[in-house]
This record gives sequence, structure tokens and C-alpha cells, in this order.
Amino acid sequence: MTQRIDIDSSIFEGAPRINMSRRAIISGLAAGTVFPFVSSCTTNPATGSSQLLLFGDDQIASMAATAWTDMKAQTPVTANSRLKNRVLSVWERTLHGAENQGHITAGQNWDVAVFDTDDVNAFVMPGNRVGVYRGITELTENDDQLSSVLGHETGHVVGRHAAERMSVSVVSQAALVAGQIAITQSEELKKYGTAIGALGGAALQFGVILPYSRRHELEADKLGVDYMHTAGYDVKQSIRLWELMDANSKGQRPPEFMSTHPDPARRADELRTYINAKGYAIV
Ligand SMILES: [Zn+2]
Repeated sequence: MTQRIDIDSSIFEGAPRINMSRRAIISGLAAGTVFPFVSSCTTNPATGSSQLLLFGDDQIASMAATAWTDMKAQTPVTANSRLKNRVLSVWERTLHGAENQGHITAGQNWDVAVFDTDDVNAFVMPGNRVGVYRGITELTENDDQLSSVLGHETGHVVGRHAAERMSVSVVSQAALVAGQIAITQSEELKKYGTAIGALGGAALQFGVILPYSRRHELEADKLGVDYMHTAGYDVKQSIRLWELMDANSKGQRPPEFMSTHPDPARRADELRTYINAKGYAIV
């Protein structure tokens, strides 16, 4: 069984993944060289969430560098300068919303790529790398909805979700391996070893890692709305975006419990509640 860890964060299913094999993680942990533990639990000042962070931003940024270079080499980038300019201008205005809230340090360099494929997706990779597919720009009806997409990606950066997700995966998998070692040392358990190991993997995936990333998605959605509001976009359009995403993906989605992302209809509901509670609008 090859367990994979994803450290990108996307708005929807199917974004490119940065993969590390379980073997690489375990040998890295054993050697104590690949993952020096920079810090353990910290409170994120923007979200108030307590986070397990075993990696510094620089470490995961360099892990993502090759994936980003490969991605840009293998996926066509749009030649449509009007589309590129639209994405860049909405990105900059939304980013300024996050900067004005003090969540992002101003003056950083960002690499924004617009890929010329039908994918209805966008993603952010560690190291200030943002990918937007033509497909999602075509789904959006206006710049406010595009800002909702880009605000969401900014929310992943501010929430430090990539580092947290990777940290939780590493700790969970180390626990699973410890369990499997215990199995091999017990004659009684050995008979059931393979089944227990497989169940442990599935439980880990469905019980820890997936709900964790769903929490990140909802957190990023809400931060995105904050940035839209500060940037002067119409926050109500974030709800409309998720209604469009829901209609677009009907029949293609795995059930929510098997997915890293919450159901689009649920995201629209959560945003409606949040926007009302913040007093941004009455919806
Ligand atoms: Zn996301």
C-alpha cells in the first residue's frame, strides 16, 4: 500500500498533487534529517485555530518547487492576454483585501499561472504559487465570483493549511506504522495483520485526514469572503459560485465522507450563515 500525502490546496477536486510516498516519510522520520521539527502546536493568529506544524513555510515551499515547475512545463498556459489580465487584476485586488486585514505581508512576489484547460479548479502551492484553470474562469459569471475563488486560495495560505495537513498526515502515518509493528510482534494479531493494517489505513483516511481537509476548505471559504469584503467585492456572489459549482459537478462527486472537499451545497449554506453573522450582507 502506497500512502500519499498532498500538500497543495485547491478549491475543488482533482488539482495537481505533490506526492510523497509513505516510505520516504518514514525513512525521513527515522533519519531525523528530512523533517526537523520546527515547532509543534501553535495558534494561527488569523484563524484562531490551534495547529500542529512540523514544517516551516520555507521547507514546504522548496518541496513544492519541482511540482510547480513540472506543472507549468506540462500544462498549457493560456495565450489569451485578456483572460490573463482579468485573473491578475482580480487576484491583486483580492490579495490587497488580505493585506489590508494584516493577514498577508504586502510586497511579496506571487507567481500566478492561468492554465488553458477545461478543469473547473484553482489551487495554491506553498511558496506563493497560484494556479487558475480556464474552466473555472468560464464558470464564473462575474469578477466577484472569481474573487471568491482567489480569496479561498489566499485563505489556504493564511491558514497555513498545506503545512498543517502534511504534519497531521505524517503523525497519523507514523502511528499507523507503530500499530503495524505491534501486530508483527504478536502471534495472535499476526493472523489478522493484513486486514488490520488495511482497515487502519482506511480509518486514517476517512477518520482523520479527510475531515481535516474539509475543515480547511470551510475555513478558507470564510477567509476568502473576508478578503472579498475588504476588497469591495460583492460577498453574496460567493454563495452563487457554490451553487454553480454544485450544478456543474452533479453526478461526478464522491460522497462527502469520501471526499477531501465538503459538498458544494453545504459550502453555500455555511457561507450564507457566515455572511449574515458577520453583517456583510443579509442573505
Ligand atoms: Zn480549497
